Amino acid sequence: MVASSPRPAAPTAAAPTADTTRAAAAAPPAAATRAADTARAADTARAAATRADASHADTTRADVIIVGAGISGIGAAHHLQRRCPERSYLILEARDSLGGTWDLFRYPGVRSDSDMHTLGFSFKPWTDAKAIADGPSILAYLKETAAEAGIDRHIRYRHRVERAEWDSTTATWTLTVRVGDGEARTYTCNVLLMASGYYSYRAGHTPEFPGRERFGGRIVHPQFWPEDLDHTGKRVIVIGSGATAMTLVPAMAADAAHVVMLQRSPTWVVARPDTDPVANALRRVLPERLAYRLVRRKNIWLQQFFYKRTRTQPAKVRERLLAEVRKHLPPDFDVERHFTPSYDPWDQRLCLLPNGDLFAALQEGKASVVTDEIETFTETGIRCRSGEHLEADIIVTATGLELCTPGEMTFVVDGEEVDFSTRWTYKGLAYSDIPNVVSFFGYINASWTLRVDITADFVCRMLEHADAVGADTVTPRLRPTDADMTPRPLIDGFSPGYMKRAMPRLPKQGDREPWINPQLYERDRALIVESPVDDGVLTFTRSPAGAWSGPPVAAPATGTAPAAADPEPVTAPDDGVPA
Ligand SMILES: Cc1cc2nc3c(=O)[nH]c(=O)nc-3n(C[C@H](O)[C@H](O)[C@H](O)COP(=O)(O)OP(=O)(O)OC[C@H]3O[C@@H](n4cnc5c(N)ncnc54)[C@H](O)[C@@H]3O)c2cc1C
Repeated sequence: MVASSPRPAAPTAAAPTADTTRAAAAAPPAAATRAADTARAADTARAAATRADASHADTTRADVIIVGAGISGIGAAHHLQRRCPERSYLILEARDSLGGTWDLFRYPGVRSDSDMHTLGFSFKPWTDAKAIADGPSILAYLKETAAEAGIDRHIRYRHRVERAEWDSTTATWTLTVRVGDGEARTYTCNVLLMASGYYSYRAGHTPEFPGRERFGGRIVHPQFWPEDLDHTGKRVIVIGSGATAMTLVPAMAADAAHVVMLQRSPTWVVARPDTDPVANALRRVLPERLAYRLVRRKNIWLQQFFYKRTRTQPAKVRERLLAEVRKHLPPDFDVERHFTPSYDPWDQRLCLLPNGDLFAALQEGKASVVTDEIETFTETGIRCRSGEHLEADIIVTATGLELCTPGEMTFVVDGEEVDFSTRWTYKGLAYSDIPNVVSFFGYINASWTLRVDITADFVCRMLEHADAVGADTVTPRLRPTDADMTPRPLIDGFSPGYMKRAMPRLPKQGDREPWINPQLYERDRALIVESPVDDGVLTFTRSPAGAWSGPPVAAPATGTAPAAADPEPVTAPDDGVPA
């Protein structure tokens, strides 16, 4: 995975960057670091030019193409341009603005439910006083990050990648990209980073509700909030019990006549202040970056500690959570029915209520909770199985997201369409037998960005190693001893409906490293950050056309395409790497 555009096709001793990087790889650690630093410094000016080149509107090729300009895409780009400045990159974004989730979701009260000291990037301190931030503040932070680092110049908006085809003979991904509603354009790259999120942007999940067409009011899904929807003085039913429903109910209750949260079953909740006094105090006395780093560590530790307790002492955690809920609600409130789930905390996502806002709305009578099943929509509301009829002017179906395979794209490797359900996940970031693709998937039990940061670190180390060994193709391949692995779902031990529905379509985990996706930050750090990239499973090879040097290599003079040949292994077979 060598080479930004101006480099020679194959790394030679005369190629300054590759040469210096290889020399650095062979040198003792301190010298290696210095050599690598010198190489990077020498590359910076050329890299700036290269990047400027790649950011030119007409450029349709880059060393690396990132799909998606949300948290993952911006994070990936930042790490890439800092650590691998010699590589040109582009970000292809289907929408007409950056931010992904934080631009798409516009429902009242939209906010994070994890703290911004861990949902923020490792490299850019979150400096607002509020640790639980609203959607517009998160979007502003992302825009600022992209603008400050010049990442925004690399983004091509209204570019939806529909198809990605890999050619092993040239180590090239060829992307079919729909520009706006019109033409299909072709882009090429050597490495494809999938930062396209995890859910479909086309549709949210909406179950079939009987009688839906009879309802005379408006039905909205939070993913597509109508700008003109005015809920002032209206009766609202929010169907759902996840983070979105818990956010919407108190936010809409402020102006609505009344809001009912209609849930089939309860969710674990915890009330916490939306500010972090430790963070705000530290920021006053310490340099910004140091304060951020300390608070980030504190929050990672606390989050991991709490999560582990839910695994080791679920009964105690249940008791504590329920005691807290009771403290916030009137003595006659049916906590058993409305706030006591049948599963253990963190078997499904635990919902945060900033400053106990949902409890306050319930206390004030502006909102109520109904735990029941929907029998049918009616002309004026919803009739429940219990026979109760709930009147409404607006019904919000906060029934979740539709998980999807990467980018909802078609992938083809050497002429064969990829069925992701038959692939193994490599460390939760790549796939068996799919070369030069890394996917960004965050945490379900911690902040998404923690995993984005370490995945981006992995990408950079992988590229550096590819450079050092003169490879242009990096592929996770099963070792002979991995053939007998027992498959497990990509996300294991986490059971909400939207996850369960999607698991059969997604790659599987195995029962041994590195074919696992632990979804635990500490374990991921060991697996992704601290383990060598050349681990006997990632194979580093060079394509028959030589190290990647740009667009598909021209056919030979005879006019025939280069013959497909086995890639040349560049790591010794006795490393355990299959040739
Ligand atoms: C309402 C809501 C609240 C959330 N709150 C939290 C929270 O508090 N903490 C937390 O950790 N996580 C939270 N999440 C999860 C959240 O999605 C992640 O935190 C994070 O925003 C995901 O970032 P991403 O860049 O990976 O994906 P996204 O934000 O989904 O961005 C993906 C981007 O890729 C683009 N894209 C997709 N496919 C293609 C294609 N084929 N071609 C071109 N472009 C494409 C999309 O248009 C989009 O811009 C929340 C999610 C939702 C929906």
